[in-house]
Formats: sequence, C-alpha cells, structure tokens
Amino acid sequence: MNLKMNQTEWNTFHRRYIKRRMFHLGSKKIFSMLRFKWLAKLYTYIELFFLRRLVFPAAEYIVTTRCNLRCRDCFNYIPYISPENQYTVTLNDFKKDISNFLCGVNGINMLGIIGGEPLLNKELPSIVEYACGKKQIKHVVIVTNGTIMVSPELLTVLKKYRHKSSVAISNYSANKELEKILKGKEIQKFLLEHDVHCHLDENLIWVKAKKFQDMKLSDSELRAVFNSCSNFCYSIFHSQLHVCPRSSAFAAMKLYEPKPSDYVDLTTPCTQQNFIDFLKNDLWTACNFCPINTEKEKVQPAIQCPVAPYLLKEEDSQQLGC
Ligand code: SF4
Ligand code: SF4
Repeated sequence: MNLKMNQTEWNTFHRRYIKRRMFHLGSKKIFSMLRFKWLAKLYTYIELFFLRRLVFPAAEYIVTTRCNLRCRDCFNYIPYISPENQYTVTLNDFKKDISNFLCGVNGINMLGIIGGEPLLNKELPSIVEYACGKKQIKHVVIVTNGTIMVSPELLTVLKKYRHKSSVAISNYSANKELEKILKGKEIQKFLLEHDVHCHLDENLIWVKAKKFQDMKLSDSELRAVFNSCSNFCYSIFHSQLHVCPRSSAFAAMKLYEPKPSDYVDLTTPCTQQNFIDFLKNDLWTACNFCPINTEKEKVQPAIQCPVAPYLLKEEDSQQLGC
C-alpha cells in the first residue's frame, strides 16, 4: 500500500482512521488497565506503517431500505426513497460484498446491520450468520426499531455467536403515538433471557432533519462541509461503500450519480489501496445535498410523517411540518 499523502490528505486520514483506531485500541482492557494509552498510539503507527495492517473501524450495511415506520427526522432519509428505488440485498450479494471488502482490509471492528428495518429482510438470519462466521469481523450489531419480534431462526444465530453479536434497539417510547406497536422492552427481555447482548437506548436524542437540496457547492465549499461534519458512519449499500448513510440514501434516490471516487466498489475484490484512498478523500459529491451542519433543533424521536415524504411538494411539507 502507498501511504504517501500530502498534508491535507494526511489530516483527513488521521481524523478518519488513525484517531479512531487509537481510540479503539485504547479502550481495550490491556491498554486501559495499564493506563498506557500512549502505547495504543504507538501500536497504531507500528501496525499501519511497519506491519502494513489496515483494520477498518466500523461500517453499517443497509440490508434493506424498506421500513415499517416513516420517521420525519430519519437521519438517513429512508422515508424519502420512493418504492421504485427501494433495495433489499440478497444473501448472495451480501456474501460477495463482504468477501470483496475483506480482501482489502485485515479486519472490521464493527459491522452494523441496519435498514430501513433490517428485520424486514427475510434472509437476515443467514446474513448475520455469514457475517459472524468471518473471523476478520470482530463484532456484528443489528440495529432495529423495536417493532418486530426476533424470529426463532435469528435467535438461534444470535445465541450461537453471542460472543461477537448484539442487538441495539432504538427506543422510540417517548412518542406515545407508537406505544401500540413498540416492542422494545419485550424484545430486550426475550433476548436477555437467552443470554444475547442487547441494548435499549433510554436517552435517545434526535435533531430535526432538514430537507436536502442541490446547493451547487464548489469543490472548496464541499471540502469545508465535509471537514466540519462529524458523521463517521461508513455505509455499505448496493455493493458500494459510501462515506455515510446519507451518501447512500442520496444515491438510492438518484439525486446524483456517484463517481468512482464517491465510493469503494465492492463488486470485485478490494485492495488496501482502495481503502487508503477512500479514507484520505475529503471531496464527496453527497455533501452538496446535505444540511447536516445546520441541524441543531432537538426533537422528539420518531415523529411520524402523515404523508410519504417522497410524494410531498415543498408547500405541503411546510404545512405538514415534514
Ligand atoms: S429512523 Fe425511522 S424511518 Fe428511519 S430507518 Fe429508523 S425506523 Fe425507519
Ligand atoms: S453527506 Fe457529507 S456532510 Fe452529510 S453526513 Fe455525509 S459526509 Fe457528512
């Protein structure tokens, strides 16, 4: 791998890779018990520059864009994807994507399985089993909205791989309208009874998602947006590794046609260089549409939009508050 970078590329790579790897290693028992966090820093550099190992921090795989909720402030803009642009990955494509991804890295610390609502993907148990079976993937977490009970098949897989899997349930109970369909506590109890790691977030804080639009930004403006963005969730969608879930969603909505530099192609075996280039890049087309840096207003989680947002015209959306 070629690690030669100019100062700007290094700054991006440091923020996106080195810092996160250091943080991860520093949180490991051995380093934190010895209070030798500087060792984690040293190891990060040795690992990359001497051992030439690249361990990808975390990625979220969108196994379906379908969702049974229509949250107005869905961070990933899932309800804005129209029916003709919906996508659900098959087990075969998931296997190909993951195996091609793993050709270019020595490991993935955390693989999130997300949606939409991932439990709507009928092949989810086999998908999770495949991901958990890969030694290079250290942990697999399913993120669900807590409206669908875990199937016996999925439970079997979660029990088999309980040492490296977990379920994160988004807790939308602050929204009383959803009371009748939320099963978060029930799912949590059920999983804990079977000794499966499970987390129900008690203090979810959401911010109002603003409407995306084509801001016609220049390259230097795009870089400024990206460099002020603290979203570090890399997203796998439709055999492409994107810089964030919004980049995936905008591509799904066909707001833009991703250029080769906008993603890592997972249809063929990846190289380490693909990921180095990805992690040092600070110019992303998706940032042209994204208002994330102006989103500050705190709102109740999971307010439902009465009309499918992809059907709304500008004037309707203002009237409906969507
Ligand atoms: S935030 Fe709401 S709409 Fe978006 S994926 Fe989660 S449950 Fe679905
Ligand atoms: S599109 Fe750009 S600015 Fe928006 S969340 Fe993704 S990386 Fe950040």
